[in-house]
Amino acid sequence: LGVAGWACVCFCVMGGPVFLEVFCVVGASRCPVPFPKSAKMAPWLRFIEEIDAVGRRCGSGMGVGHDEREQTLNQILVEMDGFQQGTNVIVLAATNRVDVLDPALLRPGRFDRRVNIDLPDRPDRLAILKVHFAKKPADSSVDLDALAAKSVGSSGADLANIANEAAIVAARHDRKVITGSDVTAAFEKVAIGPERKTKIMSDNEKELTAYHEAGHAVVSRLCEHSDPVQKITIVPRGSAGGYVWRVAEHDRVLASRSYYLDNIAVALGGRIAEELIFGHVSTGASMDIQQL
Ligand code: ZN
Repeated sequence: LGVAGWACVCFCVMGGPVFLEVFCVVGASRCPVPFPKSAKMAPWLRFIEEIDAVGRRCGSGMGVGHDEREQTLNQILVEMDGFQQGTNVIVLAATNRVDVLDPALLRPGRFDRRVNIDLPDRPDRLAILKVHFAKKPADSSVDLDALAAKSVGSSGADLANIANEAAIVAARHDRKVITGSDVTAAFEKVAIGPERKTKIMSDNEKELTAYHEAGHAVVSRLCEHSDPVQKITIVPRGSAGGYVWRVAEHDRVLASRSYYLDNIAVALGGRIAEELIFGHVSTGASMDIQQL
């Protein structure tokens, strides 16, 4: 939609009519508007979502309905080759599986320009958060800049989810305005799963979990390359009995070997604490080992 908006402005400046067609590929026979008919209405822009559903490399062994898929792919290729210079037709497509695309699609004259969209970095996250909070009433304690800094690794969808969850938390407390603590609660829910206050833990389990999580936290504090601890809890969340939530301080483009070694140390910290205090290890450590 961002591209469509941008293209729309561009075409409007040029004074031409805009035909934005968002179509779901359902096979050539059922394609709602064939390419040549629309070409007369140029300039226009066609956007194909999830191009890998139709444009998979032959023999990649994924997906079903081969005949219809290949038919659609061939039709797209034939029609893209058919566009003459100056027809003002732009075809855009999106995929998150560029590795399985048929090379025929990527030849010059077809989808020959590629724009990689990575996870948003801090300024991008702030811009995305501003969009999602724009129509939601929030008081001055909501600090979107701080949230953008903390939400390293979040996708655009995650950030939208945080904004919606924050509104739900505020509504649950019968408030018409979102506060900073609602945003924090929403971020925790999206990042580490909802709290399960109804899950009953015995006192023994609580004690074991407390030592286990403290083990993670202590090792994290001692490790130079570990991300700082944001929160330690033994309120069950998702499938976890407790959680040590560490948040990266800044976007990481490259990770070092020592960063990974420290992460392994922190992951084993819970198990070692159990061993030191109780002399045996519980299944609580299994998830940590799985994550390694
Ligand atoms: Zn653990």
